[in-house]
Amino acid sequence: MARYHIETYGCTSNRGESRQIESALRDAGHYRVDSPAAADVAIMNTCTVVEKTERNMLRRAKELEQETADLVVTGCMALAQGDLFREEDVDAQILHWDDVPPAVTNGECPTPGPGVEPVLDGVVGILPIARGCMSDCSYCITKQATGKIDSPPIEENVEKARALVHAGAKELRITGQDTGVYGWDRGERQLHTLLDRICDIDGDFRVRVGMANPKGVHGIREELAQVFDANEKLYNFLHAPVQSGSDSVLGDMRRQHQVSEYVEVCETFDSLLDYWTLSTDFIVGFPTETDADHRQSLALLRETRPEKINVTRFSKRPGTDAAEMKGLGGTLKKERSKEMSELKRTVVGEAYEAMVGTTHEVLVVEPGTGDSVKCRDEAYRQIIVQNASEYGLEPGDFCEVRVTGHQTMYAFGEPV
Ligand code: SF4
Repeated sequence: MARYHIETYGCTSNRGESRQIESALRDAGHYRVDSPAAADVAIMNTCTVVEKTERNMLRRAKELEQETADLVVTGCMALAQGDLFREEDVDAQILHWDDVPPAVTNGECPTPGPGVEPVLDGVVGILPIARGCMSDCSYCITKQATGKIDSPPIEENVEKARALVHAGAKELRITGQDTGVYGWDRGERQLHTLLDRICDIDGDFRVRVGMANPKGVHGIREELAQVFDANEKLYNFLHAPVQSGSDSVLGDMRRQHQVSEYVEVCETFDSLLDYWTLSTDFIVGFPTETDADHRQSLALLRETRPEKINVTRFSKRPGTDAAEMKGLGGTLKKERSKEMSELKRTVVGEAYEAMVGTTHEVLVVEPGTGDSVKCRDEAYRQIIVQNASEYGLEPGDFCEVRVTGHQTMYAFGEPV
């Protein structure tokens, strides 16, 4: 759980992006503080309309960098002119809006708030299926709050899912610290069975499975890929955070999985699914990470080519074992994070480039900027449709779109 401070500049659209960032952070158990000095991380959502604004943004970023432990710069100026921050040597992670919440979580799993009750947000139904995990990661503070996994029975979760669908949910988001170990406390690996049962609920809706650590997924990789393949309601999307490409660092992180298990999960999904999205996380600059370890992480990213990648610069959380380790000195963390983020942009950009000209069945999930809507295709890739009112598209609609172009992290499409 991190304390964050957020500052938003510019138009209503940018304010909307900040609201989404805050909503994701709230769902992950983080809380807002009013001063950067009291925060673990400060988020600056920038604007770049005129030159004077740019100068103000750079000045404020420098101030925030001094006042807070970690700085994340996002927003229009970060995306369009991220180099200006680098040239001014602002020590910050420069990220797309969508990448801010995972960066703030410091590689930890999301923490649902008190209780595990579902929430309907627009057409999105958030369904926490369990609380806790089976791990004891050395850098994690979340674990202290949540403890070992506690999985309610399948029937209970199916009923909650049914209630969300009846209330109007078109996208069910299955969440938990580690969905891959659902059922382990009752002696059974049950995620695939639960998903199958949820897909049996009558209605036109999609299901996205939230973070599942490689250890839990590895034991059910075939069953899981088969359930994905058999159910159109399930997005072919797996978020399996590997965190490092080095077994030695994974050992120091106490991640309980090895690189080879993660690779085997990817290979199984590749062999059983024609079109799917791999999402993973890397923590860069863990205290014991050597240059060779970092190279192994880069090589793993190149080898498995995830289409969504969260890169987090390691930072110490009080009371964790990793906080007692001697950290990396100088600018190493910053340099490694920059190198991995550049590779990420290349790999993800190529995945979206390959989508241009293809056609997909999408669900309109939420309004976008101006007259656009944000949609998700069969593998949960984001496709933006502009001029949505011309096509009569609203959240909750399904339609077929052809991909006409792309940015690094999402595609543009037109209804066909
Ligand atoms: S899996 Fe690791 S990072 Fe996630 S909640 Fe458990 S101990 Fe924390």
